[in-house]
Order: sequence, then C-alpha cells, then structure tokens
Amino acid sequence: AAEEGFDLEDVEGAIEAAGHGPLPVLAVVGRPNVGKSTLVNRIIGRREAVVEDKPGVTRDRVTYEAEWAGRRFKVVDTGGWEQDVLGIDASVAAQAEYAIDAADAVVFVVDAKVGATDTDEAVVRLLRKAGKPVVLCANKVDGPSGEADAAYLWSLGLGEPYPVSALHGRGTGDMLDQVLEVLPEAPRETFGGGGIGGPRRIALIGRPNVGKSSLLNKVAGEERVVVNELAGTTRDPVDELIELGGVTWKFVDTAGIRKRVHLQQGADYYASLRTAAAVEKAEVAVILIDASESISVQDQRIVTMAVEAGRAVVLAFNKWDTLDEERRYYLEREIETELGQVAWAPRVNVSARTGRHMEKLVPAIETALAGWETRVPTGRLNAFLGELVAAHPHPIRGGKQPRILFGTQAGTKPPRFVLFASGFIEAGYRRFIERRLREEFGFEGTPIHISVRVRE
Ligand code: GDP
Ligand code: GDP
Repeated sequence: AAEEGFDLEDVEGAIEAAGHGPLPVLAVVGRPNVGKSTLVNRIIGRREAVVEDKPGVTRDRVTYEAEWAGRRFKVVDTGGWEQDVLGIDASVAAQAEYAIDAADAVVFVVDAKVGATDTDEAVVRLLRKAGKPVVLCANKVDGPSGEADAAYLWSLGLGEPYPVSALHGRGTGDMLDQVLEVLPEAPRETFGGGGIGGPRRIALIGRPNVGKSSLLNKVAGEERVVVNELAGTTRDPVDELIELGGVTWKFVDTAGIRKRVHLQQGADYYASLRTAAAVEKAEVAVILIDASESISVQDQRIVTMAVEAGRAVVLAFNKWDTLDEERRYYLEREIETELGQVAWAPRVNVSARTGRHMEKLVPAIETALAGWETRVPTGRLNAFLGELVAAHPHPIRGGKQPRILFGTQAGTKPPRFVLFASGFIEAGYRRFIERRLREEFGFEGTPIHISVRVRE
C-alpha cells in the first residue's frame, strides 16, 4: 500500500468501514403525531422527506441508515401509519409489533405535552412482552419548562424518560447516547447456518395476491413443519421452522403472511413495513412475482428493498400453471426491462397450486446464499484486477489516466469490496468492474458493494 502512495492507516480504515457486517436495527414506535418521523429525521441527520404532512400518502421507505458517535445502525420509522378500520389502538399495536419484532432496540416516543394515553399503555404492554431494550423519548419538550411534563412519564414503568425536542434537536444527543448503551453492536441473531446461528432465515415476500400464503402452505404442508417456535403463547407464531430438501429453514414473519389483515387506509404502508421487517430478519429473500400479470412498480420496490438491505435474492415466478405461450413470451421481455437490477438473481418458475418446480426452490436459495458468502482471496482479486486494468484501462480524463491500483474484499454477506485508485473512477467504469467481477467470481443471487478510495 505504501509504495502506491496510500497511508496504511487510511487503507485499514477504509477496509474496516466497508467491511461492517449486518447493522443492528433500532425501531422508532409510538402513536401517530407524537413526532416519530421528526425524530427519525433528526437521527438520520437529513431532511430527506420523512415528514409528509398529507394524510394517506404512501411511503414505501421505512428503513434508513444512521450513524451516531461513530457507530452505524439502521432505523425503522413507523411514522407513515394512518388510523384505519382496526381502530387506533389496534393499528398502532399492529405496526409497532412488526417493528419491535425486527428490532434490536426500540425508541418509544410519547408526546410529553399530552402525557401517557391508553394507546401509549397498549404499546408499553407490547414492549414488555417483547423484552427488547427500550429508550423512552419524552418528545415535544421544546424548552426547560417542559421538563416537568417529561418526568410524569416515569409512571409508564419504562425507566428514565429522556426529554427531547425532535423539532429543535434539544436533548436528542443524550437520548442517542442512551440508545447506543442498549443497542447491541450486531443484530441479535448472527448470520450463518447451523451451529450457534441456527437455521438459515428466509423472508418470503411479494405484493398482495402473488401467492405467498399458498406457497407457504404448499411447502409447509407437503414437507414436515418441524415446530412453531413461539407456539403455546397467545400470539401467532412469527417465524416457522420448515424442513425442505432435508434441511431445516426458518421462514421469518410467516404470521404476517398467514394473517389476512384487511385494511383500507394505510394498507400499502402496512405491507411495506411488514416486508421491510421480514427482510431485516432474513438472510435471503425469496421474492414472489405473479407471472400471470405484468411486473409492476410495486414488485420493483420490493426487489429494491431486498437489494438495498443487502440480502441474498431468489426470484420465484408463481402461477406458472396459468401461463400461455404468448404470456411467457412477454414475461421474458418484461423481466429483461423491469428486473435488470437483479439480473444476477437465480430464478425459479413455480406454481403454488400444482406444486410445479417446488423442488427447485431450495437449490436456488442455496446458490444465492453461497454467492452472498463468497470471499475472494486478496491475491486472486489483485491478479484479476491487474489483468483487467491492463486490458481495459480507464478512459483518459484531463490528460490523466486514473488507475485501479489494488483492492481487497472487506466483507461478506453481501460481498463488499474496496478498490484503491490513483484518481476519480467514473460510474461507467465502476459498473464495468462489477460486471467483470460477477463474470469472474459468480456472486449469483447476491448484491455486491464496491467502494473506491482515491489517493490524496
Ligand atoms: P409521527 O406521526 O409520530 O411520525 O409525528 P410527526 O413527526 O409527523 O410529527 C407530528 C407533528 O408534531 C408535526 O407537526 C411535527 O412538526 C410536530 N412535532 C414533532 N416533534 C416536535 C417537537 O419536538 N416539538 C414540537 N413542538 N412539535 C413537534
Ligand atoms: P398472498 O396474498 O401473496 O399470500 O397470495 P395468496 O396465497 O392468498 O394467493 C392469492 C390468490 O392466488 C389465491 O386465489 C390463490 O389461490 C391464487 N394462487 C396462488 N398461487 C397460485 C398458483 O400457483 N396458480 C394459480 N392459478 N393460482 C394461484
């Protein structure tokens, strides 16, 4: 590194920054209008459109990356929720439940000016049951005179209320320091098959009516359902262990699939939250797409969620039994144009109704997980990069030719690379490198991350 003009410390720092494993998840929950979205904006330190004043507007983005005091984590915002036919208590509880389930720690936001309401008490009961670490945020304490309001919230029995003004930033630093105290360094369930990590975790996702529950019933019905982990409690089991192809897999958040919640307002948001929560808990996402219908923007959003979360991906095209030759033709064209971002994902054409190609699901999942865990030795990577750069140099810009000098794989799950360069590397050349990396090393079924460090 030194002879290429890079400071060794800089190189190590870049590798460490790029190599982080899956990030722990913080959920922000509470009643509508207590200031959850405003607080999430504070935490992520951007104004990025979280607060949306128009009711009924659907937001599909619910997870964000954040950093505080040098630690990175994910934040799940549940602020996009509208009251619906379930009634206020039930709907707040339902959204909080998913978020809490996917989280490693929770910030519970209460409006200190209003005080604790019955709905707040209902969320407290959920939090107790879940047993996750909780930080109590007494929001809307805009000045010292509001501190007394915050103190009343000791009555919730969740420990010290942190007086905060999400709007002005007052007190958020102290609250975040406390969050870091209780938030584990890594997600509670470590990734990795067998042993301590337990069974591999699959999220079966897809828009409503693509056949998720039919597929789940098919695989759980024909194969043996090993055990329902949380059976015996009053609550539905959230995750299910299912034996497939001789291996036990954990299908996460199956309750969300089986429970047919019929909602009017907020249904899309609810579905997004459920999907995001399932993806966070899983290692691999099996994305179910209804092959009998055109691939929709909603399908693409779900694909994007899984890719951005850095999960392994399998595409399953369902309802294959209904396809005629013409539809098959158009489907292939649609896949090319609409699903280009996951051209690397293994694909299976299935029918949950007839059981067609169910046996191909497990090999596809195994392929994707293998790609997700692939590690390329540094020597091999640099031999490859050396040849690549020699055969296809970066275009000359301003009389100079930026060069990739060396690289290393900083992490897996998904594979993350850091490349060190002598000058700015253009987006087109980065894409070219990604394509060639995939051609050379496979990475079937996994997103890959490439970051480039430029010599000072
Ligand atoms: P959510 O429904 O819980 O996500 O709540 P929002 O973040 O959308 O906030 C609801 C309303 O409360 C908005 O009008 C915010 O501007 C306001 N609000 C949020 N935080 C504070 C705060 O710390 N102080 C005051 N005075 N208002 C706030
Ligand atoms: P979910 O909302 O994604 O859980 O979808 P469901 O499993 O409830 O399925 C929605 C509808 O599609 C139901 O009427 C199913 O019977 C039907 N369906 C599911 N899978 C198939 C399939 O492979 N072939 C056909 N023809 N219909 C299917």
